[in-house]
Amino acid sequence: MLAITFLGTGTSMGVPVIRCSCEVCQSKDPRDQRLRSSIYVQTADCSWVVDTGAEFRIQALRANIQRVDAVLYTHSHADHVMGFDDLRRFGSVNSGRIPIYASKDTLQNLHRIFSYAFNSETRFAGYVHPEPHLVDGAFSLGNTEIHPIPVEHGRAHVFGFLFRQNGRSLVAYLSDCKTVYPEGLECLEGVETLILGTPCRRPHPTHMSFAEGVALAERLSPRRTFFTHLSHDFGHAATEKELPGNISLAYDGLRLDL
Ligand SMILES: [Zn+2]
Ligand SMILES: [Zn+2]
Ligand SMILES: [Zn+2]
Repeated sequence: MLAITFLGTGTSMGVPVIRCSCEVCQSKDPRDQRLRSSIYVQTADCSWVVDTGAEFRIQALRANIQRVDAVLYTHSHADHVMGFDDLRRFGSVNSGRIPIYASKDTLQNLHRIFSYAFNSETRFAGYVHPEPHLVDGAFSLGNTEIHPIPVEHGRAHVFGFLFRQNGRSLVAYLSDCKTVYPEGLECLEGVETLILGTPCRRPHPTHMSFAEGVALAERLSPRRTFFTHLSHDFGHAATEKELPGNISLAYDGLRLDL
C-alpha cells in the first residue's frame, strides 16, 4: 500500500502569483490555487514528506498530517526547504529527532540555512532536531525501497525519487528536472505512475516544459502521469482538455492510492 497526497503543486512563486491579474491567478477554481510543491507519502508502516516548502505548516494542517517518520529532500532551493522549522512538531516522541534524507550538497545547504537546528551546541529543547542521512544510493523506509534519481536542474544537485514495493516500481516523483540522465531513465523503466514537474509552456533553462513532459511520459509510458510544480500558465480545467487521457494535472489535496 502506498498513498500520495499532493500537499502543493505550485512552482516557486505559487499560484496565484503576487501582483498578477491573469485569468488563472483570478480563477475561483480551487485547483488553480497552488502552494509550493511537496508530497506526503503514506505506507502501511511508514510515512514521509518529500520537501518542506514555505507553506509546510499550512499544508500539514490542511492535510491533517499526524505522522512524519522521515523527510526526503529533492534539493535545497527555497521553494523546497523553507518550511523546515515546522518539522519540530513531528520529531520522535523519545528522541525528538527527525530523519532527513538528502544529497551531500543539499545537507550542506540545510546545515548552513538552519545552523541553529543542526548545531548541537546551539540547539535548544523544542527546536527541530534533524538526524541527517546522506543519500548516495537506494535505501528503505519500512517495506518501501527508495531509489534516488539524479536529474539535471540548472547547477543544483537534484534528486527525483522512485518508490518500489514488492518488486513493483509504483511511482516516481521528479519535481524539478530539465532532463533525466540515461541511468535514471533506465531506473524508471516500467514505472507505473509518473509525477513530473512542468512549470511552464515555453522552454525553460532548468525545468521541463509542458511539451517535454508529455514527450517523457510518452517515452516511459507509465499507466498514469501527473504534472506538478505548475505556474499560472495552466488553468486546470482548460489544460485538462488538451492532455491525453492518461496524463493529468495534479492539484493541491489530490490523493492517489497506489
Ligand atoms: Zn522547485
Ligand atoms: Zn497570473
Ligand atoms: Zn529547484
